[in-house]
Amino acid sequence: MSRPYGFDTLQIHAGARPDSATGARQTPIYQTTAYVFRDADHAAALFNLQEVGFIYSRLTNPTVAVLQERMATLEGGAGAVCCSSGHGAQIMALFPLMRPGCNVVASNRLYGGTITQFSQTIRRFGWSARFVDFDDLDAVAAAVDDDTRAIFCESISNPGGYITDLDAIAAIAERAGLPLIVDNTTATPYLCRPIEHGATLVVHSLTKYLTGNGTVTGGCIIDSGRFDWSASGKFPSLSEPEPAYHGLKFHETFGPLAFTFHGIAIGLRDLGMTLNPQAAHYTLMGIETLSLRMQRHCENAVKVASWLEKDPRIAYVTYAGLPSSPWYHRVETICPRGASSLFTFSLKAGYEACMKLIDAVEIFSHVANLGDTRSLIIHSASTTHRQLTPEQQVAAGAAPDVVRVSIGIEDADDLIADLDQALTQAHA
Ligand SMILES: *Cc1c(COP(=O)(O)O)cnc(C)c1O
Repeated sequence: MSRPYGFDTLQIHAGARPDSATGARQTPIYQTTAYVFRDADHAAALFNLQEVGFIYSRLTNPTVAVLQERMATLEGGAGAVCCSSGHGAQIMALFPLMRPGCNVVASNRLYGGTITQFSQTIRRFGWSARFVDFDDLDAVAAAVDDDTRAIFCESISNPGGYITDLDAIAAIAERAGLPLIVDNTTATPYLCRPIEHGATLVVHSLTKYLTGNGTVTGGCIIDSGRFDWSASGKFPSLSEPEPAYHGLKFHETFGPLAFTFHGIAIGLRDLGMTLNPQAAHYTLMGIETLSLRMQRHCENAVKVASWLEKDPRIAYVTYAGLPSSPWYHRVETICPRGASSLFTFSLKAGYEACMKLIDAVEIFSHVANLGDTRSLIIHSASTTHRQLTPEQQVAAGAAPDVVRVSIGIEDADDLIADLDQALTQAHA
């Protein structure tokens, strides 16, 4: 067939084919640690990376390989590496780029866990992050110095309803000769394809909308295959002889697949943040219905957010899918199919009313997760952001009077009725 397949076809078929041994139509869970070599020469060729195949499931596994190919296809990349969590994917994405003393220029609007990972934990590796307002393009460019090795942001940022102007940030990265890494977890490739806006690498938490039903912890890095790792001399792990792989030059040998092969042959081999085949299977099941779910997530989020915004008990709603959002104008260019289903709202009655609301909802689940078929709710100030000062809570979009919701794919009218009765109880 000559015409390219559409997204809905690819989310079901990309990377998968009937099992060659049994004809099984669904991708089997290859629950095995190791793979029998044909003979001694075959084993030697695999270990030399002269032949691609399966050796040991810390590196590669047939079920995980299907998911990697599907993610690469859906994001429009050259290759992908799955790993054990979204946070694992972020470390795995930075690992080949960084050295002690190097920094990443990062948006100050990121998932809270990423702020902690970047501001605290990566310092133990001698890396650092410089947080900048990504709407201030001059500040982003000014934050880049000779030790910068990457620029990092989220397409739709969790949870404040912020959308990054990816094209403008990609232009800065290109001028600086640096890779742009985009966390596309909240948008998914159905709503936004960062590589089309100039991203070099895309990272995901598979845990959220991609698996979609709260069963898996997983991550993925997709490489656009477009970055010239040899141009600047700044990325020796990819361009120079790799001592941890008997002097192999990854970029020279593997071209657009250099980052992917390095991620498997060095990253997974030595860091071991491997996705297990069972988790890959659940995620493949989830992705088969991604477009249908995301359409409903977005439709429901618009309905619930619009209703909340008109309710006199609500101070404000931060959802980029509402015309009142300062970032609504970016929906059309960055995520034209919708702004996903994660947002916050503020109660005029403040902290105590938020606590009562959380206890009064019936359909919404009170959990620290997002991107589930179920609607989820959390009061960040008393939970995930509890350790922060009141000033830090406000800056993080988690003020004491703010509640975060992840709108599921239930009947929107039921969700609105649930919030209505819970608000009534919260004000009683
Ligand atoms: C959840 C999340 C992560 C971390 O992913 P885990 O799978 O929980 O490790 C990173 N970025 C964003 C935007 C997330 O929502």
